[in-house]
Amino acid sequence: MLPIHQIALPTPWEDPGPVYVYVVPRDPVTLIDAGLNTPECRSALADGLKRLGLELRDIRRVLLTHAHVDHCGLAGWVQEQSGAEVYLHPDEAGKAEIAPWWQETRDRILAEAGVDEGGFALIERFWHLNRRLVVPLQGWQPIADGQLFEFDGGSLEAVHLPGHALGHTGFLDRASRRLIGGDHLLDGITPNPILEPVLPGHPDAVPHDPIRALTLGQFLRSLDRAAALDVAEVLPGHGNVIRDHRTVVERYRVTHSRRLDGLLQRLGGGRSPWELTRELYPQVKGFDHFLALSEVLAHLDLLVVQGRAHYSRTAGYSRYRAVI
Ligand SMILES: [Zn+2]
Ligand SMILES: [Zn+2]
Repeated sequence: MLPIHQIALPTPWEDPGPVYVYVVPRDPVTLIDAGLNTPECRSALADGLKRLGLELRDIRRVLLTHAHVDHCGLAGWVQEQSGAEVYLHPDEAGKAEIAPWWQETRDRILAEAGVDEGGFALIERFWHLNRRLVVPLQGWQPIADGQLFEFDGGSLEAVHLPGHALGHTGFLDRASRRLIGGDHLLDGITPNPILEPVLPGHPDAVPHDPIRALTLGQFLRSLDRAAALDVAEVLPGHGNVIRDHRTVVERYRVTHSRRLDGLLQRLGGGRSPWELTRELYPQVKGFDHFLALSEVLAHLDLLVVQGRAHYSRTAGYSRYRAVI
């Protein structure tokens, strides 16, 4: 059985708390996810490796579940220290590289959603702070769905599970029925389908505004895929190890179905995503505005795809109304 060790790395956030990264101490020694670029994370990672009899320079390979800062922030540093090869799903590239097209498209999505100047300023400020939590990658290799990462005595299989992030990927050890699940399935937390700009022609683009992904549609499809996997344990990016992943999948399905119904009730004759975000989440602060807007937009777009809501855009602003 492939040994998979968990190391907890601290984050400055109460929610979702520490991020869990995983080490497979077999040849080639592999780190799955890499925490934030903070002194606390660096020393916790070095200490965790030491307990396994390893040092940073022993790491030969880094597999990233997705390019959110808490998972990829230190990958560039590990690469510098060890010369390890870093692997990432290509759908995460725009975000990981902070590509100009990605930022411009994100700003267009925010503007169309009706985000006002104050909202933009809040989101942008936290974006800058977040950037400091990432050491840029010097280079990376693309992960393909189904790709096998071989070890001396086992393998991990890449399972593309998009929705929380466009290129979100789990790593499955079929022999021991364990899935390193990133942020797709979390105990006690419902992962946010975070807004994702896409390049023209992306197969999962929102049909009525193809500059972003239909994130909730992807997420629900990935739930079906995860439920079909023969898995005894999900080793998550945050929170407890999950031993009944189909129960978590079912809970998420119910949550999103309720949110879709609840949002539909509020649409009436036409609302903007930002208006709805302010109304539904009046207490949120800072970067959570972006997460809250992502949540609302993801549900609105899926309502349109389901034929339950109507989308229109006038003078650059989008509105959603209920189909009666
Ligand atoms: Zn994440
Ligand atoms: Zn995370």
